[in-house]
Amino acid sequence: MFGKIAIASLGLLMLGADPAPAELPAASRNIAAACGPDGGMADWVKPAPPAHIHGRSWYVGTCGITSVLVETSAGLVLIDTGMAQAVPHLLANVRALGFDPREIKWLLMTHEHFDHVGGMAAIQKITGAKLVVGPFVARAMRSGKADPEDPQAAQLEKYALAPARVDRVLRSGATLSAGGTRFTIHANPTHSPGSTSWTWRSCEGGKCLTIAYADSISTISSPDYRFSDHPARIDAARAGLRVIEGLPCDLIITPHPSSSNLLDRLSGKAPLIDPRGCIAHAAQGSAGLAQRLAEEASGK
Ligand SMILES: [Zn+2]
Repeated sequence: MFGKIAIASLGLLMLGADPAPAELPAASRNIAAACGPDGGMADWVKPAPPAHIHGRSWYVGTCGITSVLVETSAGLVLIDTGMAQAVPHLLANVRALGFDPREIKWLLMTHEHFDHVGGMAAIQKITGAKLVVGPFVARAMRSGKADPEDPQAAQLEKYALAPARVDRVLRSGATLSAGGTRFTIHANPTHSPGSTSWTWRSCEGGKCLTIAYADSISTISSPDYRFSDHPARIDAARAGLRVIEGLPCDLIITPHPSSSNLLDRLSGKAPLIDPRGCIAHAAQGSAGLAQRLAEEASGK
């Protein structure tokens, strides 16, 4: 794959032409139809075909959990692996697009829960790729255990992760440069203490935009947890929402595709590009948190 890119970028330099067509033939043009109506948690392991997002970025996850593959001239970047059970499916999707999983050089992630990074240790073993994380997630990934500050910690106990090797910890706002593509990390501790979003520039047909892989914004918890008893957690959740609201964001992707109507958008049934996508996502999170606090105040 890289030989082709090198030749294409040489052509670009010499002729000022567009790079090779972004869409690989194996990418589905109708992932929404392939997945069918929202099946809730059953969709987390339901196989989906790979789908083109924009430029050199593809959706390689399941019907209910997003994984993103980005091709750079220095190798592939994979963001989120989905559940451990979905690893064979993820690898099949990478291969279906014509890539060898061993071309994956960097592993990035949104947040430290089994449904998004349960397959991280296995993928790392298979590919040898380096795991690059944000400041508040390294301990959970190394130990496989939930962060005790996580409102869902008690119920996550039975979903421990296989411990992964953390190769690099970036401070929020820093970038990982991969073959000329710069992935900027944004800590936004709303859904979990380690919640992280990533942004990168993507070009297609001579036009460039910013893709924002914005993390989950739901403030849910184990049954006995009350946010009202943890003011620091509420402050962190609100600060995280402000980060998401302010992300550079022309095209939003979310860890659960249903949170941003992503499968329909990838299938041409709704606008893929929406510069207000992150603002709307953050607003949904603010409304959810306000409702949660109101319920706690009314003793529900
Ligand atoms: Zn989660």
